[in-house]
Amino acid sequence: MALVDRAGARVRANYVKSVSKRPITKHRASNDPVLKVAVAVPLSREFDYLPPKDTPAPAPGCRVEVPFGSRRQVGVVLRLAGESTLAPGKLRRASAALDAEPILAADDLRLIQFTADYYHHPVGEVVAASLPALLRQGKPLHPQVEMIAVTAAGEAFDTAVIAGRAPKQAELLEHLQDAGGNGVDASLLTELLPHWRRAVKGLLLKGLASRFEARAEDFDETLASPAEAGPTLNADQAAALDTLRATDGFGVFLIEGVTGSGKTEVYLQRMQDVIASGKQVLVLAPEIGLTPQLVTRLRSRLGIVPAVLHSGLTDNERLAAWRAARSGAARLIVGTRSAIFTPLRSPGLIIVDEEHDHSFKQQEGLRYSARDLAIVRAKQLNIPVVLGSATPTLEVLQHCHAGNYTHLHLPQRAGGAAPPTIRLIDTTRNPATEGLTEPLAAAIGRHLEAGGQALIFLNRRGFAPTLICSSCGHVAECERCDSRMTVHAGSRQLRCHHCGATRPLPSTCSECGEPVRPLGEGTERLEEALRARFAAHRIMRVDSDSTQHKGAMVAALDSATQGDADILVGTQMLSKGHHFPKLTLVGIVNADQGLFGTDFRSAERMAQSVVQVAGRAGREDRAGEVLIQTAFPEHRFWSTLIDGGYARVAAEALAEREQTRWPPFTRLALLRAAAHRRDDALDLLDTARRLLAADAGEHLRVLGPVDAPMARKAGRYRAQLLLQSSDRSRLHDALARLRPALEQSPAARKARWSIDVDPIELF
Ligand code: ADP
Ligand code: ZN
Repeated sequence: MALVDRAGARVRANYVKSVSKRPITKHRASNDPVLKVAVAVPLSREFDYLPPKDTPAPAPGCRVEVPFGSRRQVGVVLRLAGESTLAPGKLRRASAALDAEPILAADDLRLIQFTADYYHHPVGEVVAASLPALLRQGKPLHPQVEMIAVTAAGEAFDTAVIAGRAPKQAELLEHLQDAGGNGVDASLLTELLPHWRRAVKGLLLKGLASRFEARAEDFDETLASPAEAGPTLNADQAAALDTLRATDGFGVFLIEGVTGSGKTEVYLQRMQDVIASGKQVLVLAPEIGLTPQLVTRLRSRLGIVPAVLHSGLTDNERLAAWRAARSGAARLIVGTRSAIFTPLRSPGLIIVDEEHDHSFKQQEGLRYSARDLAIVRAKQLNIPVVLGSATPTLEVLQHCHAGNYTHLHLPQRAGGAAPPTIRLIDTTRNPATEGLTEPLAAAIGRHLEAGGQALIFLNRRGFAPTLICSSCGHVAECERCDSRMTVHAGSRQLRCHHCGATRPLPSTCSECGEPVRPLGEGTERLEEALRARFAAHRIMRVDSDSTQHKGAMVAALDSATQGDADILVGTQMLSKGHHFPKLTLVGIVNADQGLFGTDFRSAERMAQSVVQVAGRAGREDRAGEVLIQTAFPEHRFWSTLIDGGYARVAAEALAEREQTRWPPFTRLALLRAAAHRRDDALDLLDTARRLLAADAGEHLRVLGPVDAPMARKAGRYRAQLLLQSSDRSRLHDALARLRPALEQSPAARKARWSIDVDPIELF
């Protein structure tokens, strides 16, 4: 910091000198405040501008258009200052003010600034990440939107007349007829009928439709039907709720309870209080967990329409939800990770559901944890934050032990459902064919017979993870990554799950020409095996391949919930927060991947994954059963988990982390580099290592550079440098010096690099 201050002071001195040499009257500009603007470029600094000509200075939180190099960029004013670090001749004017009043309030800017400082990420990029796309592009807060509507002639028109010649026009016209005279937002049409723009031309020509612009509609949360009453809370829930009700100011609460223990009911009642007091509630949910199921439940229990923010929205929808949160028109805001940045008019409570979920950590660009920022934001706003999970992270548990967070327990399933029984199937004695052992297959048959539903979990999509030559043993590999190609039978392709590369599925070996065969199994193969064995039953596969189309995931979950499918086969996607009433059996097909993991988080992850998927079984009146296929039934992990539950695995893992000095007992940051030439990636990291030399030592360990565990991905060589410290401020001071120095270094131009603070993946 000292260096920056010295440099800054020197520039300021020059500035003052050169101004004072000239007659003051010629320099009206110097009476203008200097705007400190965040511009979305990868440089860790603010940019100085004067206000636009003949305009009062825009307040902090307003957007401005600024000249940047030869282009114009949209930026946000962070603050006003009396002076600039730039020489006066270099100080340019902003070209336009885009907002009459701030779109971001002081509290929003404070969170943004914290995020930039803590994650050592350029503030302009943090601002950009926090804004809806339309605002980032400089569009007005209340844009005019393009609308298409039927005309009176269109209303009366019989679409059958054109259905033969112009089926697309007929389809569009039907949509417009259904929507009525107010019309449909064009961006919504793009979602529903991707090629509607061609079809609309014909309708406009025939006078059957009209096109006009309207001000974006305001959000109305009162469209929901009246609130439904919930169940009477059991004693544990009531105690948890009482504790939550005792705090209006800042406090962090962890509600730990098995799936189905009624955590959501507790949140709901606390949310009701807060909303009734006129304050807003922000709910963060995992990407996969934010389903219509959750939204419908919130909506019917609270009797208001939530503003929902997730990745599937159109730009206009996203902006509308953001605006409603900012104006206070929406009192309930539900969103995935990035919703943590949504401005709130009168915030009262933040909830992070399934806090252990990895989707709360962004793994590219601005690498932030929405869970951690939720806690920071709650503290800044002096409001409570509630974290919920059946399998809390060790980071959060350790804060509970240290007395920083309040730990609330819901040990029993609400409504009296019994916990599922868990048993292991030894695959060395019961060999699996196509992934399925005889005891598991028999259990599936039993549960189906009894009218139950089965979920078979395998965290590997595709048909088989490997294609091997039966003769020479050659394995099909990705040309751009250090990885094997996965066999996809449905599309008859080999696909790389790391870079997305595909090639046609060969029938013979590229090396020796002999036949090849798929080795191991993925969900596709398992589905096939189940179909062969349970031909009379309905089987549904749910993974990211089967749910690529928009809405497919929702439809799949819906039919799973309705009980339309007897057997569900799928990946992690099926394990998150869903409630399948008929489900009584969970089978975990290949549980051994995590037993011998090298990552210090392996045991925690594995226990989370098993407990989460096991939690889907027997959530209503019928008892659930969980069967786990493993080749290592004697492994300590299993007895710990089965006898002591997640809590014991977590306690043991925490003790081990304390001994080995891994997080949460130390802090980590990872500097990653990737380049087409391995040397370029390593050079950058060597430079960083040199820059860190003054900070490194007993209190800050700098480990590496080393190749990343998958050294080549998508044609780039990847390497990394790990920083570890038991003292957070030392780590952050070192990173704060490193980042700007690295930005200036020539080595940084030859490689892509990033800083990941509190990384959850070490590769
Ligand atoms: P979690 O969020 O912990 O998974 P939920 O709040 O979704 O649990 O509750 C699981 C199921 O139990 C839901 O169907 C819910 O309506 C029901 N439930 C929750 N609390 C009670 C209660 N006190 N009495 C009866 N049923 C309850
Ligand atoms: Zn690849």
